[in-house]
Amino acid sequence: MQALQLGATIGILGDGQLGRMLSQAASRLGFKVVTFGPDAESPAAQVSLASKVAAYTDEAVLARLAERCDVITFEFENVPASSLDYLVGLGATVAPSSKALRITQDRVFEKSFAREQGVGTVDFRAIDSLDDLKAAVAELGVPSLLKTRREGYDGKGQVWIKSTDDIAEAFNSLNGRPSILEAKADFTREISVVAARGWDGTVSTFPIGENHHVGGILSTTLAPAQIAAETVARAHDIARKVLEGLDYVGVLAVELFVLPGGDVLLNEIAPRVHNSGHWTQDGCLCDQFEQHIRAVVGWPLGDTTARCTVEMTNLLGADILDWPRLSAEARARLYVYGKDDPRPGRKMGHINRIKS
Ligand code: AMP
Repeated sequence: MQALQLGATIGILGDGQLGRMLSQAASRLGFKVVTFGPDAESPAAQVSLASKVAAYTDEAVLARLAERCDVITFEFENVPASSLDYLVGLGATVAPSSKALRITQDRVFEKSFAREQGVGTVDFRAIDSLDDLKAAVAELGVPSLLKTRREGYDGKGQVWIKSTDDIAEAFNSLNGRPSILEAKADFTREISVVAARGWDGTVSTFPIGENHHVGGILSTTLAPAQIAAETVARAHDIARKVLEGLDYVGVLAVELFVLPGGDVLLNEIAPRVHNSGHWTQDGCLCDQFEQHIRAVVGWPLGDTTARCTVEMTNLLGADILDWPRLSAEARARLYVYGKDDPRPGRKMGHINRIKS
């Protein structure tokens, strides 16, 4: 695609903090942003030129977005893939594609895709009934993890099966939704790679982040991770295979498990900028948000070299009320998402601390 000119308009489906930071990066490069989402005062709408407030399936409003925007992207992986197809059908330029969305919206499709690319995953079985689950637990053993195939995030929609006595209760707790049983990964570290691919097939990867979760939610990312060069190479190779296999345009994140012997398994693909890439805002000349904008508008990808080590800490719920102290910290930068209600566990902001 031809590189978009300064002043072109970018549409973003999704209106949360990722859309906010994408919009800020886009406007710094001279683009105009129209956001599309259900909330008039959303984090993204607050910082954008215009916002369309509608359900993601509202075809009349999608059509107005298609007319107004030179390229349309998304910041939320649960946007219906059919809405992207509708936009493309109207002649809009959309990136990433609905194919990437369809595969990554479903954990069984996602892991099957990874294996087709030669990327390892934990052993898994698709589960549609209690009998499926009983058979799968017999094969994969305990402990194993039952997850909904779709729409799980931050550890929601997941239940550990620690003994065969847990099977019926675990199945019922997911309300019989199509699910996946995963063997337990005995990992030593959880890492992620944020990477980008342009319309011309150029691939660029950021240094690796090491992630710590608390209660299923990302708590901190330390990057560049202090890991063996061989692990770094394997992780970057996985990101490249995923980007190329999806024929992807934009930024995505690949969440990985590092096993004691050094093997690296893919856990999840996020077809968007990612919480574990927020460290790049202070760690790299071109951060993940700018990189995504560069990729989708057809500009050259930016420089992803790390300038320093950064620890990113999420500010969840009431953590944000500590802003007077956080804002006074030396060698740190505070990011606030503009959300009113600091409900427990809600992502309200983050802080990047420079470590070296
Ligand atoms: P997910 O929603 O798939 O990213 O899972 C959330 C977190 O649960 C991961 O970051 C891991 O800490 C843990 N987890 C997920 N799948 C597995 C697995 N198969 N084995 C061990 N831990 C897992």
